[in-house]
Amino acid sequence: MTAVASLAERLACIDCHATYPLTYRLECPACGGLLELRYAADVMRREGPALLSGTGLWRYAAVLPIADPAHRVTLGEGQTPLLDCPRLAAALGVRRLLLKFEGTNPTGTVKDRSSATAVAGALQFGLRATSVVSSGNAGSSIAAYSARAGLRSLIFAYERASAPKMLHMAATTSDFVIYRGVYDDLIGHWDRLVERRLFFDCGASRNAYKHEGKKTLAYAIAEQTAFDPPDVIVAPVAVGETFIATARGFAELHEAGWIARVPRMIAAQAARANAVVRAFRAGTSLEPLRIGYTVAEGLAAGDPGRKGDWTLRLLREGKGLVGDAEDEEILAAQGRLARTEGIWAGPTGVAALAVLIKLLATREVDAAQTFCVIVTETGLKTEAPPPSRAGIAFDAASLERLVTERLAR
Ligand SMILES: [Zn+2]
Repeated sequence: MTAVASLAERLACIDCHATYPLTYRLECPACGGLLELRYAADVMRREGPALLSGTGLWRYAAVLPIADPAHRVTLGEGQTPLLDCPRLAAALGVRRLLLKFEGTNPTGTVKDRSSATAVAGALQFGLRATSVVSSGNAGSSIAAYSARAGLRSLIFAYERASAPKMLHMAATTSDFVIYRGVYDDLIGHWDRLVERRLFFDCGASRNAYKHEGKKTLAYAIAEQTAFDPPDVIVAPVAVGETFIATARGFAELHEAGWIARVPRMIAAQAARANAVVRAFRAGTSLEPLRIGYTVAEGLAAGDPGRKGDWTLRLLREGKGLVGDAEDEEILAAQGRLARTEGIWAGPTGVAALAVLIKLLATREVDAAQTFCVIVTETGLKTEAPPPSRAGIAFDAASLERLVTERLAR
């Protein structure tokens, strides 16, 4: 099979709209604004979804910025299920509830989408090492994809990351550093170090090439709904990468005429790290927060920075909505999803569902609409005390008694 050509044409500043060639550049040299990738929209309109070919993330290579197929690193990411959840929908009283379950990615999280394009970008621009500051998921994902591509990775991991995340990072990275404090404390210093080009920027703050991998969420949801996407998409927001990328994907699909309308976007945050929610509700600009620990470790960013501003802009332009959930509500949603639909997602992953449950309870959303919640991580990386390990010794009679009693309940 012939590899699909990338339709990426240029980088464009989201603030002043100046455009630049496809080099490794993180900001607009004219105004300092963030950059986004632009594609040949005329070709997308003319060719339609026939541009897509193959499976997994690189099925969407036409709308990703990696020109050389040799650079398209993969561990089999993408092709995650879009799960119809009729029992949970009935319990919540909504017409239709779909979950885009990203826990089936190779490292168990949505990060694999952006890690694939980030590490591909490192290869494309000739860097030999990658680095990221992580609460856990991005660290193990960047480490795994870097190893897969034969690159070194310098992973900075949050000291309170769950034990399974720690084990995973330590196993896959070439250089592992544990940091004290929250993400915001380190990311400012690290972002400045990025300028020295010692490593490829695999952080969530600025790199358009990395960011772009998550755009495939929109393409996958569109394809999985026969290009008639749900009315509403609920996406989690830490610094805003997943939210912005998904919104951009749907905007591109709409511009190319592949979908007739753009879903409404809901930004979901942990109540303990809700800077975007506060600013949106107050109608103000973003005010960074000093935050502590939240069980939604991947959402623990008190200062979403310029992507937070970008998220707010998209919310305001697109008539979006926001919501946040307390840790207890997130854990309750985690257990409810597991029991009702058999989907075991981590707290970071299930926060968006907890937010939707709240918005339905307060009638801030219309239950007659169709909803898709992006559930970003597996529950297998969750750290929690196990159920009681006290075992029962059986003989034939006591076993029969227990089985008949339990099933009669
Ligand atoms: Zn600019």
